[in-house]
Amino acid sequence: MNKRTFIKLFSAMIASPVISPLLARATKDKLTNWAGNLEYSTDRLYSANSLEQVRNYVKKQRRLKVLGTRHCFNNIADSTDNFLSLKPMDEMVALEPEAHLVTVDAGMTYGQLCPLLHSKGFALHNLASLPHISIAGAISTATHGSGETNGNLATAVSALEIVTAAGQVVKLSRQRDGEVFLGAVVGLGALGVIPKITLDIQPTFLMRQYVYENMPLAEVKNHFDAIQSSAYSVSLFTDWQNQRISEVWLKSRVEEGQAFKATSEFFGAKLASKNLHPIAELSAENCTEQMGVPGPWYERLPHFRMGFTPSAGKELQSEYFVPRQHAVEAILAVERLRDQISPHLLISEIRAIAADNLWLSPCYEQPCATIHFTWKQDWPAVSKLLPIIEKELAPFDARPHWGKLFTISPAVLKSKYKKLPDFIQLSKNYDPHGKFRNEFLSTIIFSS
Ligand SMILES: Cc1cc2nc3c(=O)[nH]c(=O)nc-3n(C[C@H](O)[C@H](O)[C@H](O)COP(=O)(O)OP(=O)(O)OC[C@H]3O[C@@H](n4cnc5c(N)ncnc54)[C@H](O)[C@@H]3O)c2cc1C
Repeated sequence: MNKRTFIKLFSAMIASPVISPLLARATKDKLTNWAGNLEYSTDRLYSANSLEQVRNYVKKQRRLKVLGTRHCFNNIADSTDNFLSLKPMDEMVALEPEAHLVTVDAGMTYGQLCPLLHSKGFALHNLASLPHISIAGAISTATHGSGETNGNLATAVSALEIVTAAGQVVKLSRQRDGEVFLGAVVGLGALGVIPKITLDIQPTFLMRQYVYENMPLAEVKNHFDAIQSSAYSVSLFTDWQNQRISEVWLKSRVEEGQAFKATSEFFGAKLASKNLHPIAELSAENCTEQMGVPGPWYERLPHFRMGFTPSAGKELQSEYFVPRQHAVEAILAVERLRDQISPHLLISEIRAIAADNLWLSPCYEQPCATIHFTWKQDWPAVSKLLPIIEKELAPFDARPHWGKLFTISPAVLKSKYKKLPDFIQLSKNYDPHGKFRNEFLSTIIFSS
């Protein structure tokens, strides 16, 4: 990935009446994404702390992008012109217990929302591997957790507001706005600025997670469906070596009648005797509690704990969604590339996700399995490997995660989203002159 030229921070300070911690960090190091593999193309960053500030700023700028918590690995969030941060807008705005809804400011992270929600007696249906990410950034890229009955995190969105290029506030809801709503939720930041989101909630619940070690790959081949349906959320971690899954993480809801009962063996894997990190060499201190200890949903659904570094830190990530019926073939296809993959890999994770009806969700109208790669931070090597993996996964209609690294061509990618023409039209309604476009969107979504 090319390093970018930076405009001096000074210009961002002039533009911003509120200097956020994000900006403070940028004074020392240049403004980068979380992993540090991407220096953004400008550090002109304005932090808004009210809807009025958002609207005024949007009206004044010719081009801008919103920055969430900067956890994407590609340039989907990048801008050569201006960044808007909603980080100071991080309150829970309304809790509607009867309707099972919570409305939040879009700058809020899951790590901020979840304990608050739990203290009021409520929960979300699922979480990603880390709670550190902004809610708006996560839903904009169809971020997901695991569990074959769980849709991605964007499926919990019940309503949202969008500040359009003209500075107008559009309110969309699942109940009222049908297809337009379904098109807007996984919006890739293309429709405008999301200042507020309403999410479905449910009564809070407890969970426990068990980790098993060393499952023979043959078990995955023969029993993938049984393995995936054995708990509320199932993650298989592998380094693709020795025909085995190194760790199986099973997360189950404690109150469910059919909660997972820990046995000493699970499809040939052995129950772990201590907490583990998915990358076995790293400290499990960063990970959520295992060994069957019950705890609140938000301290078990993510793999990594708030306040600790998630994953490895210095890394790259790629992930491919394949329709669920191709899961085993796709896994075996990747496994055949083990000798090419392993030298550059920290760990892979295989998960399952329910189908949804959000236009740009990779799970649009199809349940999926995902094959994820956490890479060593060596883009020259990884960029050579990705086309090889993508070629092997092509027969299985693989789609990349919107926020991770991929090399699939725009033409191929576009052919996989039948609602893309409708999405482009929707974007043009809200942003006729491309105020919210950047290189990623212009190349991948809007090029003809
Ligand atoms: C360690 C690690 C673990 C991860 N684990 C998972 C995982 O388990 N599952 C998974 O699916 N992904 C995972 N990811 C990827 C991550 O969830 C996504 O990249 C997600 O989009 C990050 O949210 P963010 O706020 O950091 O987004 P950013 O990178 O800041 O922005 C992403 C996009 O959202 C847009 N956006 C952000 N806020 C707004 C707003 N208010 N209005 C309009 N547009 C907005 C941006 O413009 C950009 O287009 C992981 C990433 C890391 C670094």
